[in-house]
Amino acid sequence: MQMYDIICKKKTNKELTTEEINWLVKEFTAGNISDAQMTAFLMAVYFNSMTERETLDLTLAMEHSGDVLDLSSIDKITVDKHSTGGVGDKTTLFIAPTVASLGVKVPKMSGRGLGHTGGTIDKLESIEGFNTSLSFDEFSDVVKSVGCAVVGQTGKLTPADKKIYAPRDVTATVDSIPLIASSIMSKKLATGNSCILLDVKCGSGAFMKDKESAKALADTMVKIGKNAGRNCAALITDMTKPLGRAIGNSLEVIEAAEALKGKEKGEFFDLCIELSANMLSLAGKGTPSECAVMARDAVESGKAFNKFKEMISAQGGNPEVVEDYKLFKQPKFIHEVYSDKSGIVTCNDCEAIGLVSLSLGAGRTVKDAPIDHSAGVYLDKLCGERVEKGEKIATLYSSTDCDMTKIGERFSSVYQITDVNLV
Ligand code: URA
Repeated sequence: MQMYDIICKKKTNKELTTEEINWLVKEFTAGNISDAQMTAFLMAVYFNSMTERETLDLTLAMEHSGDVLDLSSIDKITVDKHSTGGVGDKTTLFIAPTVASLGVKVPKMSGRGLGHTGGTIDKLESIEGFNTSLSFDEFSDVVKSVGCAVVGQTGKLTPADKKIYAPRDVTATVDSIPLIASSIMSKKLATGNSCILLDVKCGSGAFMKDKESAKALADTMVKIGKNAGRNCAALITDMTKPLGRAIGNSLEVIEAAEALKGKEKGEFFDLCIELSANMLSLAGKGTPSECAVMARDAVESGKAFNKFKEMISAQGGNPEVVEDYKLFKQPKFIHEVYSDKSGIVTCNDCEAIGLVSLSLGAGRTVKDAPIDHSAGVYLDKLCGERVEKGEKIATLYSSTDCDMTKIGERFSSVYQITDVNLV
């Protein structure tokens, strides 16, 4: 087979065979196809897309490019949740213990943050001692005994995805639905869970900026999951504004802990209940509405919060941090943002708020760069809330040497107060 012929076929919008897709994934992963040729192919996919069959074949080829986990020794039914990423998305910290406290195993592999989006692994690492690099046997033991564990993805899963993502990232070919869907689903399939719930974010803080493309991505991923024999469903959820009040690593762990204690009952809590309910339902525990009642009860009874503490402890962290928040590394600098007029809080660019948190030190612009776990933004006033002149609308935290006043001004330019009579 020749890569040249495969590029020509995709360029002229002809359907590739399974053999051609398997060959190109195998040879590119082995280093036998140049980045230049791969990039030409990716651009052809960007413009001509892929059929449902081609997208499934690409996903399966990437899934099998490395290790594929077998979780059947943990349980016949295990459930995973994947979010396409956003600002302040700390739902995993809530849903893993909540679902596990209701008897469904959650062996979860998560990622680190990059750019304006945060990563669950960084959030959990703000807990001193928390180990996100367990061996497979340790991971499996924690899930068997506690019911859930959250670790980083091992380097041996889906090497093809890592290799293909690199040229996509520098050639503006990331935002192609078959490429995003196959990249995400290859990792989810390789992780081995029997049930997969997808949380496809939609809005200015997400990959998918509009409902149409979010729905197209969700449909493509669900079809892949089902065709690969998994119980799979998707929700499309709002990312036009940050999720909840906290953006930044330890701040988000604290907000998740407050929600698990039943003390924080806003949109973040409601979304966590909806996600937990759909995960439980995929695992056969009842209809989503029956499962939502179960999830709320798990929070009210304290079962879900206790499970969170158990998971922290089993992964080497100090569970007391979620009782006494002063045990988290404290930020060196605090900057409060006040409203200069009365009105309604409006967020016109969710991604920009994620970037504010990043410049405080809470995120990274290059893979594997260190981050400041104490940094971030706390929204004292949420979008849509009424605020009076002189009231505090947000607090910025950092331990990094940065210009807090300037960052505060940038924050105010995207988290604005709109005159009531204009609303
Ligand atoms: N997340 C992934 O894992 N892959 C993509 O291609 C885009 C988002």
